[in-house]
Amino acid sequence: MVIPFNKPYLTGNEEKYVIDAIKSLKHCGNHQYCKKVIDLMKNNHNLGEIFLVPSGTAALEMGALLADLQVGDEVILPSYTFSSTANAIVLRGAIPVFCEVDPETMNIDVTKVEALITAKTKMIVPIDYAGIPCEIDKVMEIAKKYKLIVMHDTAQSYGSYYKGKATGAWADLATYSFHETKNITCGEGGALVVNRPEWIERAHFLQEKGTDRRLVLNGVKSKYHWVDYGSSFLLSDILAAHLYAQVEKEDDIFEKRAQVTKMYFDIFTKYQEQGLIQIPEITKDMKINHHAFWVIFNTVAEKEKFIDSLREQGVYAYIGYMPLHSAPMGKSFGYEPEDLPITEDVASRLVRMPFWGGISKSEIAHLKDIIINTMERNIK
Ligand SMILES: *Cc1c(COP(=O)(O)O)cnc(C)c1O
Repeated sequence: MVIPFNKPYLTGNEEKYVIDAIKSLKHCGNHQYCKKVIDLMKNNHNLGEIFLVPSGTAALEMGALLADLQVGDEVILPSYTFSSTANAIVLRGAIPVFCEVDPETMNIDVTKVEALITAKTKMIVPIDYAGIPCEIDKVMEIAKKYKLIVMHDTAQSYGSYYKGKATGAWADLATYSFHETKNITCGEGGALVVNRPEWIERAHFLQEKGTDRRLVLNGVKSKYHWVDYGSSFLLSDILAAHLYAQVEKEDDIFEKRAQVTKMYFDIFTKYQEQGLIQIPEITKDMKINHHAFWVIFNTVAEKEKFIDSLREQGVYAYIGYMPLHSAPMGKSFGYEPEDLPITEDVASRLVRMPFWGGISKSEIAHLKDIIINTMERNIK
């Protein structure tokens, strides 16, 4: 039996809705299925205005435009994230300023943010690694004190809550991803949540190639003009139809994925107590969406042995992110690996376990056996 790293989950209504969207002959963005998805997401999670876009990457790029990032502005983000978080910043000519992570959560270490703020700092972009919320309340406090914008990269945390509020509801802007590897998917897709009402009109212009087409659609104007920056930040209604089938059944998806989290805590808690590994701690402030599960080993050698041994048995676990500050692009901004020693160290010892919704009982039993045997044989 092969245990892949990830499998997309289908709720069953995708085909019906996609065919319906095709037959409607309204295939471009912001048609019936886009509207249904937006309404449902807003209702389910009490979010600001939602713009469905072609990817989580596009959401970050549209957010960077909306935040009006300028050449030379500094933006604080964790080094432990995906390239897209940093690209959205550098595409505007702004400068990424990398912050350490807290190894307990692998999210931005909020106690280290203030020391990075300068007169040029414009924005903070925290992420929620593995769907586990960062301390966004503390990030918002710092941002308020220094009058900074916060764009929360919630690509992995759709459905997660922190202190009773959806992760996407806290910051000025939040970005979700509906990539195949995320909890709720349409293959490629994303959303920009705009929680600042005064930014919503401009967001429509940016989404529609810098035109005020929205005002024509709303009957305010008779012709539309080129009024702003912009791009084509729209998700096709055909993909939104697929997405609707997923959002409609999101509780079901979260529940199925919760079984995987439970399995990993059942397996690994004992080894954590023995001091062999470290696993995430889910505090009472968090409700998680069960996006992923990671394990940090004590040494790089143990991590490698674990991954290799699982692979020989047909189980595909992977390393997490390679830190951005020590990647070739990070170095081009003047960073050296030793500038963020904590991130460099924990990232080298982290393993991401296979994870998908709809895992079967026999797959769970098989996976449990293999992991426990591997831990007993190789790690103890
Ligand atoms: C997946 C992901 C993205 C990018 O989303 P896409 O939809 O693949 O473009 C950005 N940031 C983080 C943290 C992600 O996990």
